[in-house]
Amino acid sequence: MHVIEQVKPKIFRLEIPIPNSPLKATNAYLIKGERRNLLVDTGINRPESLATMQSCLAELGVDMADTDIFLTHMHPDHSGLIGKLRTETTQLYAHPRDVERLMLMLDSENRKDWAYKVARRNGFSEAEAVAMRGRRGSEFPEETDLQFAFVTEGTVLTVGDYSFRCIETPGHTPGHVCLYEPDHKLLLSGDHILGDISPNITHYWGDGDPLGTFMESLNKLAQLEVDLVLPGHRRPFLDCRGRIAELAAHHRQRLDEAFANLADGALTGYQVAARMTWDMRFTTWDEVAVAQKFFATGEALSHLRYLECRGAIIREERDEVVYYRRK
Ligand SMILES: [Zn+2]
Repeated sequence: MHVIEQVKPKIFRLEIPIPNSPLKATNAYLIKGERRNLLVDTGINRPESLATMQSCLAELGVDMADTDIFLTHMHPDHSGLIGKLRTETTQLYAHPRDVERLMLMLDSENRKDWAYKVARRNGFSEAEAVAMRGRRGSEFPEETDLQFAFVTEGTVLTVGDYSFRCIETPGHTPGHVCLYEPDHKLLLSGDHILGDISPNITHYWGDGDPLGTFMESLNKLAQLEVDLVLPGHRRPFLDCRGRIAELAAHHRQRLDEAFANLADGALTGYQVAARMTWDMRFTTWDEVAVAQKFFATGEALSHLRYLECRGAIIREERDEVVYYRRK
């Protein structure tokens, strides 16, 4: 069973499954043109996902030799199948900052080391960090010879009657790009704005301010006239500005929560995550799977970093572990 939904003339939403994930599926979008088609995002690199994508493309009569691929961002649930779907005549498009990150992640040893170091540095036990090192799977593309044409702010991609303008929306990743079609008031929002769930904003290392840039990117999109949002997960929705206001309010509340948790002294990102409320079913933090703890910690850290960048809290390092405390 696969899902193809026509969302506009010549624009189709393809639901590509993510096995064993609470996210359930990634939305890829196929835009049919006269000479060339554009596929926006691909789904994760798993056999079930590839099979679904291939049957969707067959049903729509799409030949990948006549189709280019645009990535909203480099996460594996969006980029994973790019190497398997491309042909010699397929042009790949993405933002240079995410291409750089993707290339780092294509080296699996690199990826595993990164997960281990991040976990240890932010307060995971040695055993949990080792488990995290072991579990970084092969959901990224396996092909290492991917060649991209770079898109940046204002790049226009024309497909049939649609002219999509690239809008840089850093936050979820540093090189996240949304596609905006001003004549049809359409926004392909990737994982920058989702309808039913809030995009994961994580921070793992010492630089940047992902949540701050995410909030700025939300404000930037609030200026656009949008009648239909086509997100990277779950259902399309209509009220772009309303959803932006909800997401901003959600993060303000999370910032208060993170700050409140530092009332009794310095804590690691891991410890703050353990004290925050999550939309997950568990009674004690100990029973949460290590991968979920990793994401939760990344989310807590993006909020701590935001507070740190605005002078509300201080970051300190002791024995190569990072702690946050109030001033
Ligand atoms: Zn995603």
